[in-house]
Amino acid sequence: MIVYDFSPSQEHGSVRALVRAFVDREIMPNIRAWDEAHHFETGILHKLADLGMMGVCIPEAYGGAGMDYNTLAIVCEELERGDTAFRTAVSVHTGLNSMTMLQWGSEAQKQKFLVPQAKGEKIGAFGLTEPDAGSDVAGMNSMAVFKGDHYVLSGSKIWISLSDVADHFLVFAYTDRNLRHKGISAFVVERGMPGFSTRPIHGKLGIRAGNTGELIFDDVRVPVENRIGEEGEGFKIAMSALDNGRFTVAAGACGTIMACLEASLAYCEQRETFGKKIGEHQLVQQMIAKMAANLEISRLLVAKVGWLKNRGVRNTRETSLAKWVSCDAAFEAASDAIQVHGAYGYSSEYPVERYLRNAKAPVIYEGTREIHTIMQAEYALGYRQDAALRAMLPAWPFAHSEGEA
Ligand SMILES: Cc1cc2nc3c(=O)[nH]c(=O)nc-3n(C[C@H](O)[C@H](O)[C@H](O)COP(=O)(O)OP(=O)(O)OC[C@H]3O[C@@H](n4cnc5c(N)ncnc54)[C@H](O)[C@@H]3O)c2cc1C
Repeated sequence: MIVYDFSPSQEHGSVRALVRAFVDREIMPNIRAWDEAHHFETGILHKLADLGMMGVCIPEAYGGAGMDYNTLAIVCEELERGDTAFRTAVSVHTGLNSMTMLQWGSEAQKQKFLVPQAKGEKIGAFGLTEPDAGSDVAGMNSMAVFKGDHYVLSGSKIWISLSDVADHFLVFAYTDRNLRHKGISAFVVERGMPGFSTRPIHGKLGIRAGNTGELIFDDVRVPVENRIGEEGEGFKIAMSALDNGRFTVAAGACGTIMACLEASLAYCEQRETFGKKIGEHQLVQQMIAKMAANLEISRLLVAKVGWLKNRGVRNTRETSLAKWVSCDAAFEAASDAIQVHGAYGYSSEYPVERYLRNAKAPVIYEGTREIHTIMQAEYALGYRQDAALRAMLPAWPFAHSEGEA
């Protein structure tokens, strides 16, 4: 018999309160200025590290807080209530990079890369997208040529979050182009390696308080020890990384919906038309009701994924569904929040225009809306099934062996 328990644990409640207070204190007073200045405040990551939030679901023996996967979702939800930029940072650092290292890294790689990342001493990023290859990963052009004890990596990545901030970059390149998906391998490129450089992207619609840019590999010598998994396992590693990244994106979308709801409820109290508060008009209530319903639906989908992760069960289908539904709902909530605010919502005097600009990127990254729509149809039609992976994310509570360094 499956028992569903919807009550948050005491730890969940404590972490939510901790991150909420942090966001109110450290992000809320500054975010409008950072957004306008296109400034990514790296100090926020250091402070999150001090709180143990940069490796919240990584085993303690690997430098993390050892909490369950739903705790990561709570951190992401509360952070995105402040701004998408900081949730994106945790998504790539913890979801896409550290959790992948936990799942696929050798013991030596965990010691070298995961431990400092989980402590927040080093920052991780994830480089999959290229100028000519986004949704179609196998369209990538980056090449890693084997030279005995190292690979020579050439090519570039684009739209990489934390490109100018991160220390460790989990990147993907062909080691054998003829094998298509089965010829892609995964590597960690370290900042400072000769031939490796980064540059920021300017002129973004949203996530302006975040850092996004390009990675350039000009014949970078990458030691064999920095290859994650076997040669040719890169595509599987990238997709399993996305199972974790998408979980955090979906959780963050709940934070956007929550922020839209909070802002709209406050405005409903203060604005009057036709002799009554706008919250008393049924068509305004319809928008409020939709936000409230979508917050609940999205949270439930995310919680189910967290529950599956805690049990060590593959969750690609459920994660895709949660990401697709919650990100679309967040974008709709942001649009409706502007509508509730009328013309004032169209100005930066209120935060809701920022929510709308921010909410667009998650509908595009970590699988576009169209890619998730196709995935869900294919699962429903029986065209897609998930085979067991060679390496799985460890179930929670972590077994003692996962914690033995
Ligand atoms: C702010 C931001 C941060 C990002 N951070 C990262 C990061 O850290 N690391 C990283 O690797 N990438 C990152 N990305 C890149 C992101 O993952 C890609 O943009 C995304 O995968 C889509 O790829 P694309 O932009 O090349 O669009 P394309 O793949 O070119 O798609 C263009 C359009 O065609 C549609 N389309 C494509 N194929 C199909 C199909 N088969 N059927 C129907 N429609 C289809 C798409 O849905 C989309 O609407 C980031 C992007 C943004 C905006």
